[in-house]
Amino acid sequence: MQLSHRIITLLGDEGDGWGVFYRARAMKAAGRAVTELTIGEHDIRTDPRILAAMHDAAMGGHTGYASIPGTAELRDAVAARVKARTGVATGRENVLITPGGQAGLFATHHATCDTGDTALYIDPAYVTYPGVLRALGLVPQAISTRAEDGFQPRADDLEAAVKATHRPRSLLVNSPNNPTGGVYARDTLEGIADVVREHDLWLISDEVYDTQVWDGAHLSPRALPDMPERTLVIGSMSKSHAMTGSRIGWIVGPADAISRMADLATHTTYGVPGFVQDAACFALAQGAALEAQVAAPFRRRRALALDLLARQNLVRVQPPQGAMYLMLDIRATGLSGESFAMALLDRHAIAVMPGESFGIAAAGHVRVAMTVADDLFVAALGQLLDFAAEQAAMAA
Ligand code: PMP
Repeated sequence: MQLSHRIITLLGDEGDGWGVFYRARAMKAAGRAVTELTIGEHDIRTDPRILAAMHDAAMGGHTGYASIPGTAELRDAVAARVKARTGVATGRENVLITPGGQAGLFATHHATCDTGDTALYIDPAYVTYPGVLRALGLVPQAISTRAEDGFQPRADDLEAAVKATHRPRSLLVNSPNNPTGGVYARDTLEGIADVVREHDLWLISDEVYDTQVWDGAHLSPRALPDMPERTLVIGSMSKSHAMTGSRIGWIVGPADAISRMADLATHTTYGVPGFVQDAACFALAQGAALEAQVAAPFRRRRALALDLLARQNLVRVQPPQGAMYLMLDIRATGLSGESFAMALLDRHAIAVMPGESFGIAAAGHVRVAMTVADDLFVAALGQLLDFAAEQAAMAA
């Protein structure tokens, strides 16, 4: 039977960018030891205290259908957190609880764009972005950034892209950024806000890495003048609390948009399990101390990596200001990110993501997730640098 055009074309021409990842998993399944520096998955598990709270909630009976927009307690806790971090007035009516940030990406675009509208996003981007947009029948339009700008978008590039676009409705931004590790400067965010106000666009701000900032400060664009009415913020407990498998996150935005997206949730996800919401409440109540504890290994490995990278000048890096990744510029080897990553996997059983899988702006780069134990991480990065030096010597 014929499937819909929408689903057959979901992955688009760029493929799904997971070739190296799947090959690494196949090698592991065949019994090989592979160092996986691919996806954004912590090497620690969810804190046992959070799991105990989840267990207690489930045993206490919170196992039936839960409140679909989210429990009042959790929506209040998220609203309080957002208000404390941004200063923007935020109440329960501004919060929808979702099964992770991924569901938030889908719901926000569903709520703001109609079929055939153009949804803009910044390249390089988290791999699922274009697929989410295509799944909704939207036209994904990438706006390229430049490595020399630390992959932060320039306002005039945004302006030009919006002007050249048919039916633009939304702009999706992500700071701290996956894959680049960039944290958008105030100037960058003000430039973005000017463009979206000028062209009457929705701004969708993916802030799932907001607790992982190593340098500078995270600023939510919702906090800029006149932005609360046109900004939808996506948050998640996946990265901040090592709760990737619990599937819990949120959308923050204007009350009418939240209420419409609650209607969408009623017709799609039917909400998030009550015991998971209770565990999230418990986790948020632990405050910044627990978030700092979850972020600490990445902060530590970032310092180890920068130290190692400073001892050579072939592979270049923009020190990540946030998130759990290093974006390495391997252009001096003469290889593409894809060939480099495949060869590194074949020769040294180290898996990294090719830059090309995040868009054309990251060609000639590889993304390294800092997600294995420190000694293994340093050893793998050392091997990667030696491999790069060999490749460069062969090309010379
Ligand atoms: N946005 C970005 C930038 C991400 O990196 C991820 C996960 N890797 C997500 C959203 C989705 O995360 P989750 O659904 O687990 O909250």
